[in-house]
Amino acid sequence: MGFPAQRPRRLRRSESLRGLVRETTLAPGDLVYPMFVVPGSKVRQEIRSMPGQFNLSVDEAAAEAQEARALGLPAVILFGIPPVKDAKASGAWDPQGIVQEATRAIKKSAPDMLVIADVCLCEYTDHGHCGVVQGDEILNDATLELLAKTAVSQAKAGADIVAPSDMMDGRVAAIRAALDAAGLPNTPILSYARNSATAAATRWIRRTCARRSRKSPSMSRRGRTW
Ligand SMILES: [Zn+2]
Repeated sequence: MGFPAQRPRRLRRSESLRGLVRETTLAPGDLVYPMFVVPGSKVRQEIRSMPGQFNLSVDEAAAEAQEARALGLPAVILFGIPPVKDAKASGAWDPQGIVQEATRAIKKSAPDMLVIADVCLCEYTDHGHCGVVQGDEILNDATLELLAKTAVSQAKAGADIVAPSDMMDGRVAAIRAALDAAGLPNTPILSYARNSATAAATRWIRRTCARRSRKSPSMSRRGRTW
C-alpha cells in the first residue's frame, strides 16, 4: 500500500500519538562515552576538532568516568596515545600501557562502568600505520598477532569489551582465539560496523596517524591502512 492511502504523517500529529508508536528511544543508558587518554597527570586539553571533548590523562579519565556513570552512562570507549611509539606498537600490548592503566583506574573509580578498549596499532606505531610495515607492505598476518596480543592485554587489565578498528583480514578470528586461549572466553568483540556517529573519533585517530606518518617517507598518505 502506498500514497495516497498510506499517509504516515497521520501518526505524527501529536506528542501522544508519536509516543505511542515510537520505535526508537534514546536514553543515557544507550550511550558510550569516547575518551582519549594521554600521558601525564592533571591533563585536560580540549581537542580542536571536537569542541567540548578533551584529551585526558589517566587520573582525569577516571574522574570523568565516575561523573559519567553517575549521570547514567553505562560505558566508555578508550583510545590511547602512548608516551613512546615504536615500529612494533609496543605501547598497545604493554600490560602497563596507557589504555591498560586507564582501564584499571576507571574500574577503581567507577567499578560498574563498562570499559570498551579500542584495538589498533596506529596510535602506537612510530610510522602511524595500523600494522607491521615491511618495505612498502603492511604485513597482515604479523599484525594479527599484535592485535590479538593487544586485545588480551586490555582484557586482562579489566576491559569488558574489545573493539578492533584496524582493517586487517582475519583479525576478529585471531582476537577471539587469543582471548579464548588466555581464559577470557566471555570478553565480547565489538564491531565498528555501526560507525556512523563516531566520525569525529575516527577523525581524531586519523589526524594523530597523519601527524606520525609524515615521519615515514617510504609510504604515501594513501598507503595508510585504517
Ligand atoms: Zn588504526
